[in-house]
Amino acid sequence: MNRDQLIAELKLCIEPLLPGYLAVFDLADTKRRNLYLGHEEVDTDILEFDTLLKAHLGEAFKRIGGDRWIAFVTENQLNVFDRLILAYQREVPISAGWECRAIAPNGTLAHIHKKNDVFLSRAVRCAYLRIQNTNEVATGLNDLVEKIWHFPINSATPLRQELTFNQPKWKCIIGNLPGTEFCPFCKSTEFEWLEGTDDTAYGICKGCRAEADFVYG
Ligand SMILES: [Zn+2]
Repeated sequence: MNRDQLIAELKLCIEPLLPGYLAVFDLADTKRRNLYLGHEEVDTDILEFDTLLKAHLGEAFKRIGGDRWIAFVTENQLNVFDRLILAYQREVPISAGWECRAIAPNGTLAHIHKKNDVFLSRAVRCAYLRIQNTNEVATGLNDLVEKIWHFPINSATPLRQELTFNQPKWKCIIGNLPGTEFCPFCKSTEFEWLEGTDDTAYGICKGCRAEADFVYG
């Protein structure tokens, strides 16, 4: 469904309920959660949040992207947003960092782990806007979607307050991760990278020419 269709449908649904509040929810830092937990876990997050929305709001919400939803509540339902946020937030202990399998030019093998115990947090952003009549829906929704990413986590926040937020982007890892990857043989941190993905890297150590295969997460 494109944006115009979405707005037309939204106007029809909320017209009898106005005035009220239009909100956008955005699961925070899902890219990094994907990296540490895997896509299946993040798919479960999405499903769980969708189920929470249904439990708290009935039909008054719609998923508009991978990890984004719009929702509408009437004036006296505004506190439902905080209940939703509270029900979703969670912290779990994980072991995170990197490991390396390497082979030296003389054929010696090495396998090292550098992992720390940290917490991985699950959180959602919520920005909302009061809507008086259906003419305000299109610009209101565009504003919310455009600005949601720099709102604080775990707090239902009116869109008008957005200018006061100027913090670095929130990260789901709580605690210190191990430092930069290094060669198991000569401890060099300089590599000629040959291949890589979000969570792997393969290269040649510039110190001793060992082949090194790193996995992060
Ligand atoms: Zn080396």
